[in-house]
Amino acid sequence: MAVLVTGGAGYIGSHTVAELIARGEEVVIVDNLETGHREAVTAGTLEIGDIRDKAFLNEVFTKHSIDAVIHFAAYSLVGESMVKPGKYYDNNVSGTGVLLDVMKDYGVKRIVFSSTAATYGEPERVPIVETDRTEPTSVYGETKLTMERMMRWFDQAHDIQYVSLRYFNAAGAHESGQIGEDHRPESHLVPIVLQTALGQREEITVFGSDYPTADGTCVRDYIHVSDLADAHVLALHYLRDGGKSDIFNLGNGQGFSVLEVIRTAEQVTGRPIPTAIRERRAGDPAILIASADKARRVLGWSPRRDKLEQIVESAWRWHTARPHGYIES
Ligand code: UDP
Repeated sequence: MAVLVTGGAGYIGSHTVAELIARGEEVVIVDNLETGHREAVTAGTLEIGDIRDKAFLNEVFTKHSIDAVIHFAAYSLVGESMVKPGKYYDNNVSGTGVLLDVMKDYGVKRIVFSSTAATYGEPERVPIVETDRTEPTSVYGETKLTMERMMRWFDQAHDIQYVSLRYFNAAGAHESGQIGEDHRPESHLVPIVLQTALGQREEITVFGSDYPTADGTCVRDYIHVSDLADAHVLALHYLRDGGKSDIFNLGNGQGFSVLEVIRTAEQVTGRPIPTAIRERRAGDPAILIASADKARRVLGWSPRRDKLEQIVESAWRWHTARPHGYIES
């Protein structure tokens, strides 16, 4: 029996595929390679196609004996989602609907879902717990929340159990240095900071210094991508062991400001990182910090690379090994 990983050629998907393979799982990857990279798929069987294409998914489910799905395939740029909501609803929400329908048709009863802290919007309090209010401030967050809700109804109607993992700020790269973060265009803080250290960018723009935080810049909970990968495998085991549908936050429970991340990157790289303070970016909450107590308690998850230095160091290894990321395929 194989685990189907949708979006397995993307950033977090590819690290999860590597972890599944390392643990002896048979893995089938579905990716349309629109934002994913063929080179990021280091093992497993890659089936190139789109989750909105029901005939394609039917073929995949007919060809392979699928026992569970880990679902990453989605658009994930907050800024883009605000100007192209239709694009996000179509791929993220409609695509998930097609996938769940095919799972129902083939009797596949388990799905681990890649969700996000963006489902909460502006938090009521930090650290955020899973029962806190969900009021997304972006189309991206709204689509992910809608996808979670779809899963709840598919569970009720068709007995498909889901685990939704709401991650905070994924960063870092695989210890092999062979897979890492490569978004085009890049919008995430850690890779942009390291591209600046490499001299590929003149400076890093800090979006706002007037937030109600210690140094005025936004505070986020950075979590190593391989710790996220571990959590997906644990969630899979939880479902295989008969666990009920549930939602879990994944983070380190510790916040760092944008300036702290830049300072840490200067230490790790030994290079100066020119910084320009500019306007706030629309939709950025001041502080996002996870309580991941539930994932620790119920899934037995415990992040192993929880120091910011470790996270930035691993990302730096990837960026120095592959300064231009993956070769385009
Ligand atoms: N950020 C920044 N400059 C950049 C990119 C990001 O100041 O070029 C800030 C952003 O405002 C946020 C934090 O860094 O407070 C993390 O942003 P990222 O886009 O990496 O993740 P998000 O929090 O949006 O999921």
